[in-house]
Amino acid sequence: MKAASSPDWSRLRADFPVLSREVHGKPLVYLDSANTSQKPQQVIAAMDDFYREHNANVSRAVHALGSEATEAYEGARRRLAAFVNVPADELILTSGTTFGINLVAYSWALPRLKTGDVILLTRMEHHANIVPWQLVCERTGASLRVVELAPDGSLDMDDLRAKLTGEVKLLAFTHVSNVLGTVNPVAEICRLARKQGVVTLVDGSQALPHRAVDIPLLGCDFYAFTGHKMLGPTGTGGLWARRQHLREMPPFLGGGEMIREVRFEGTTFNDPPHKFEAGTPNIAGVVGLGAAADYLSAIGMAEVEARERALLAVATQRLSAIEGLRILGTAPGKAAVISFLVDGAHAHDLATLLDLEGIAVRSGHHCAHPLMAHFGVPATCRASLAFYNTEAEVEKLALGIEKVRKLLL
Ligand code: PLP
Repeated sequence: MKAASSPDWSRLRADFPVLSREVHGKPLVYLDSANTSQKPQQVIAAMDDFYREHNANVSRAVHALGSEATEAYEGARRRLAAFVNVPADELILTSGTTFGINLVAYSWALPRLKTGDVILLTRMEHHANIVPWQLVCERTGASLRVVELAPDGSLDMDDLRAKLTGEVKLLAFTHVSNVLGTVNPVAEICRLARKQGVVTLVDGSQALPHRAVDIPLLGCDFYAFTGHKMLGPTGTGGLWARRQHLREMPPFLGGGEMIREVRFEGTTFNDPPHKFEAGTPNIAGVVGLGAAADYLSAIGMAEVEARERALLAVATQRLSAIEGLRILGTAPGKAAVISFLVDGAHAHDLATLLDLEGIAVRSGHHCAHPLMAHFGVPATCRASLAFYNTEAEVEKLALGIEKVRKLLL
């Protein structure tokens, strides 16, 4: 019997309108949440309500709608900040992880780094946590160094220790791998970095939607995340930074909202986080993201994590039993992301034929070319689960792969 406090997962699933549609005449089986999550009606309704009832610009007009819009926007910031346990005035609202990392690259790294300095990354980074640092290196003379992986896809901690030398000024790494599902021991890594005086940036894109994240407990300097993977709309996200960095960093972009006073002789800037939010923001999107944080909080992130762990166990067992199927990334405690290869079937063919069964998986390099090179493959298929998936959908995936395999071999 189900415990009284356990969420009613089928009722929660019914909150996601798109999950009841059909694709190619078959019920949609959406297994691409690591790419972008689906949105519950509560998030859609919050944005709809904003545009219908409250639409105005923020922090400018004194009229009623202006105040309501500002309150809706700042209220969403407060709820999002509470979701990750940080003060609201340390949370910069961004268009997503990519923007957050670039903000740190341009405002923190560019003015500080110089020839001889090193930025330490890991082999499992998304391009969003590689390319901005390459651009910084080109302009400062700093160089990149990469921590390698153990065979199961976990970070090689000995390699990390060996590479965390005196020249390293920044260690930027992902909390959870979008390809392997590996969950990195963030607090331990940040402790090692801090001992050497190394600043840390954590890419939380794949963590926030799937587990409780208490940023102060992690001990990092910067934590970037994206809204659209955590049930929120696209073009939203956040960057938390230590107050000391927020004070010291120059603005990234200039314009309205981020200033206190503008004269042709010089401009004084607004306080953080507004100093880093130039121009009219994605107000309705942020309102939707606030609703997404509320929605996840109401379920409870420990419940979400346990649900996804159970689905992952079923999926791993079922898929591993398929002849010729190999899963990349088997680190203990991994998140519910399964990248796989099937002998004799190209990942794109597999994904295209699964789509005809109504099953949405991603195929390709997953914005992680260096990781693909490590495994010696150009592409994988990736099934990524969320709490709204079901065991029946996992079974459909397995049956779909078996059917496609027979067709292709
Ligand atoms: N980092 C990781 C680990 C990701 O999975 C993604 C998205 O796929 C990103 C960064 C980039 O996120 P966004 O495109 O929302 O900025």
